[in-house]
Amino acid sequence: MQSLRFNALDNLASNPAEVKVTGVSKITGIFNENVFTLKVARQFLSDEAYKSLAASIKSGKKIDRNMGGQIANGVKAWAESKGVTHYTHWFQPLTGLSAEKHDSFFTLKGDGTPIEEFDGGALIQQEPDASSFPSGGLRATFEARGYTAWDPSSPAFIMEIGQGKTLCVPTIFVSYTGESLDAKTPLLKALVAIEKAAVDVCQYFDKNITRVTPTLGWEQEYFVIDAGLANARPDLVLTGRTVFGHAPAKGQQLEDHYFGTIPERVYAFMRDFETESYKLGIPLRTRHNEVAPAQFECAPIFEEVNIAVDHNLLLMDIMTRVAKRHNLKVLLHEKPFAGINGSGKHNNWSMATDTGVNLLAPGKTPKTNLMFLTFFVNTIKALHDYADLVRASIASAGNDHRLGANEAPPAIISAFIGKYLTQVLEQVETRVGGKFDEQDEAMLKLDIHKSIPELMLDNTDRNRTSPFAFTGNKFEFRAVGSAANCATNMTVINTIVAETLKTFKKDVDALIDKGEKKEVAIMQIIQKYVVESKKVLFEGDGYSEAWAQEAEKRGLPNVKTTPLALDAYVTEKSKKLFANNDIYSHSELEARHEIMLEDYIKKVQIEARIMGDLATTFVLPSAIKYQNVLLTNVKNLKDAGLGESAYANQLQVAERISHYIQQMSDNVEKMIEARKVANDIADTRERAIAYCETIKGQYFDVIRYHVDKLELIVDDENWLLPKYREMLFLR
Ligand code: ADP
Ligand code: MG
Repeated sequence: MQSLRFNALDNLASNPAEVKVTGVSKITGIFNENVFTLKVARQFLSDEAYKSLAASIKSGKKIDRNMGGQIANGVKAWAESKGVTHYTHWFQPLTGLSAEKHDSFFTLKGDGTPIEEFDGGALIQQEPDASSFPSGGLRATFEARGYTAWDPSSPAFIMEIGQGKTLCVPTIFVSYTGESLDAKTPLLKALVAIEKAAVDVCQYFDKNITRVTPTLGWEQEYFVIDAGLANARPDLVLTGRTVFGHAPAKGQQLEDHYFGTIPERVYAFMRDFETESYKLGIPLRTRHNEVAPAQFECAPIFEEVNIAVDHNLLLMDIMTRVAKRHNLKVLLHEKPFAGINGSGKHNNWSMATDTGVNLLAPGKTPKTNLMFLTFFVNTIKALHDYADLVRASIASAGNDHRLGANEAPPAIISAFIGKYLTQVLEQVETRVGGKFDEQDEAMLKLDIHKSIPELMLDNTDRNRTSPFAFTGNKFEFRAVGSAANCATNMTVINTIVAETLKTFKKDVDALIDKGEKKEVAIMQIIQKYVVESKKVLFEGDGYSEAWAQEAEKRGLPNVKTTPLALDAYVTEKSKKLFANNDIYSHSELEARHEIMLEDYIKKVQIEARIMGDLATTFVLPSAIKYQNVLLTNVKNLKDAGLGESAYANQLQVAERISHYIQQMSDNVEKMIEARKVANDIADTRERAIAYCETIKGQYFDVIRYHVDKLELIVDDENWLLPKYREMLFLR
């Protein structure tokens, strides 16, 4: 029987998978087609119900239960007009993916009459009996009482899967006792916190500002490879990354893939998933090749954080499903291929006021400039004060492969702000020994607005090695993992900035109470914050060893692994921060910490198992087979009376094979023993550390090294796992 690898290669050669993509002439024609937007709501709801929904979306007002019934009816009528038969509460459990449980509108009345029904209760609240989602001990599993509750701020949508259509209602997921069990609940709370804190500070500058909405524009990197080849790699199927595989003769050193033409097959796939995305209101804008071969990126127009997060999750789901139609596989893992760049997600973040101002865009007048400077410096201060927590917010088994691996931003959290703003902050810092008075009006007239946008927006003054870079009108956080739910990081960023703004307001008010003029008070506190947080600013090469040393001197944390990075969630400081802002109670935080550690352990455990399996059942048999071929050849040559020089080389190769096999198998055995030891460790954190430092740290690279050596020796025809050159370059 032919191996899956060769089957896939044959298929690739004989059938270049031509998939028809229904062309879309105008995106506006399909945009939001499957979304219950306010415009649609206007058509399907009574005045009263519409007003209630609109008020809830615009100002977070609660929708009362009676109104829920009316809205549910409208949503159902709309969905049915589009051929929908089922609905689901769509939520974001802590597994990192989205979840759904489908119910039909169809039901039987007491007398057995069949009807289609979707009442207010079904819209507003559900009990998905989701006892097997991670809860970190918050919700005893046997109790199984978790509720999903409608989040009206994110519109309902219709998901089309093949011929089936399902109405999806975005919801939060909380325990019976009200603790959050998902990624969305704390995010919504963080957004409330920052809105309040930011509006309060905006009042210093403009009394008309009554709402501030944080915005997020993510950039999503991913790999696309042939599905046949992917399916022949059990490691890719089960873990999303290749645990073995020798680097190809050609890697990314030529950089010929970056911004090159998109391969046709991938291009068809892109257009197809973009079409599906537009129907769901995901405003995709850009697509291009990334640095690594077979790596690509897409990005939408930015949106409010909550919606942007939902859209990113939806997109990842859509991409994965649409790829199947094209016989392709999307790899969202942070590091699918060793030695080749990994994938990240860039979270571009800012705040917008209801008066139409981007709070991180330099203004045109001294007053708006001061407002910009306030929010800019507060963000930097937040990053400085909570760098450990920001690092924790992007920690995952997958992202550990990236951070600090000389390609992605390092695990050291710092901010890049560009030459011009560096000068501005230096001036602020050194101004007359820290004293501002009336004469310092000049200070306030700093011509920030003229130079910055040009300098920064044209890409020349940018630093791709910084994890947190100011890019002219927003901060771009580049260290997020490609597979991550943006919500986890966004919850932290918005919470820490909220907290910092709250403190800022207190500090400024205290000076004003002492009789200081408002602008002067603001400048003085800005100056204080610049002094206190400047060590988090770094303009140089974030990938360099020199920076790691410099950062250490500055006392900046550089935590390279997830189990240790996650500690930041449960420090006294973090507990206070999250409790103060009503994001997590202490017990929620402990539970979450536990869940993230468990998640880490499971991922490494699965990788370890698949490594052992592949080494034993794929690599070893191939190696032995080839070794026997060599030995038969040696024997034949000897029998034919040829001298040693005729078979010395073959013998030597056979010997090397023995050596690699022995090393590989030995280490697999030892790794299995180490797992047994680790599994007996009761404390979750200690267990996670054991998995990280012992199982992964001591065995993964060693086993891989020997397997990859064998790949270079064993005859190609005998090798079962598709090779890097095939996965990365064949389509
Ligand atoms: P690049 O960083 O590659 O030069 P852009 O600057 O155009 O690209 O934007 C990258 C991402 O940042 C896009 O998703 C865009 O929507 C988003 N973005 C732009 N402005 C904002 C903003 N004010 N808030 C949040 N995201 C933004
Ligand atoms: Mg960018």
